[in-house]
Amino acid sequence: MRQYILFLIITMISFQTIQADELVVYTSRKEHLVKDIFELYTKKTGTKITYKTGKAPALIQTLKAEGKNTPADIFMTVDAGNLWHASSQDLLAPLSSSLLEKNIPTHLREKNNKWFGLSIRARTIAYNTNKVKADELKSYEDLADNKWNKRLCLRTSKKVYNQSLVAMLIHELGEKKAEEIVRGWVNNTVEIFSNDTAVLKAVASGQCDVGILNTYYYGRLKNKEPKLPVKLFWPNQDSYGVHINISGAGVTKYSKKKQAAQKFLEWLAGPEAQKQFAQVNMENAILNSVEQAKEVKSWGKFKGNNTFQLSNAGVLQSKAIKLMRRANYK
Ligand code: FE
Repeated sequence: MRQYILFLIITMISFQTIQADELVVYTSRKEHLVKDIFELYTKKTGTKITYKTGKAPALIQTLKAEGKNTPADIFMTVDAGNLWHASSQDLLAPLSSSLLEKNIPTHLREKNNKWFGLSIRARTIAYNTNKVKADELKSYEDLADNKWNKRLCLRTSKKVYNQSLVAMLIHELGEKKAEEIVRGWVNNTVEIFSNDTAVLKAVASGQCDVGILNTYYYGRLKNKEPKLPVKLFWPNQDSYGVHINISGAGVTKYSKKKQAAQKFLEWLAGPEAQKQFAQVNMENAILNSVEQAKEVKSWGKFKGNNTFQLSNAGVLQSKAIKLMRRANYK
């Protein structure tokens, strides 16, 4: 009898850890991008997902300050640079999950499985169709050429998206060459903007001819203004490919519900959630089998850089920032 009771207690405890009634997510993603998918999980499993939104650096600071007492089970954000910051400050737990390892390619997750990519975004070139022909474009490197003088618009170097892009250039070309490229960009720049949408609008208005941006910003504006005279171009197709980054997540080091949190991440990386998770922001799913949003399909297929391990966006980030400072990229 005593053994039976003990068995029951152990079963109940382990059931609770796998099937938590509530998980807490700290996320820098906009509420409208995650709300429905969190609710779907609750409907499926009964596990309630509560979330706190904020900017990634602020959420990382909160996790640090809360330490062992954090209520957060999952940290979810965009850009490997942000995820790397969380893991390098020892705020995330390594997971052992054959499902996550199977579904998520190695270059899109941390090597100890402390964070995982859950959707893929491309940072590519957009061009004004009245001023540029696609065959005039080639690569990120080519935008440093004098032929683009006073024709390029960029977002500020303070944004992690550009820091990760430059980290990739350092990885692919070496620091010296990468700096030459960034200097060339700066020389060709018409104006530096605070966000990707402003870059896109500047390209659309003809203030500049080309810009660098994440594709979903293009998708959003194009949906609002179908006649936008802008197209996307996939650079570096005969070399390393388009710079891709991720939105992703990891389980917090001090989560008291690690198993349940892992189950939730596994569900997010599965076919049902993947479709919605990627489509809602016009991103690419991690799983190739998952259907893309119609806008994403219409932009055509491209080769993304799958040799750049995204942890390096974090490892090389301070080098990238210093390089951009030297190149006077504001
Ligand atoms: Fe964004």
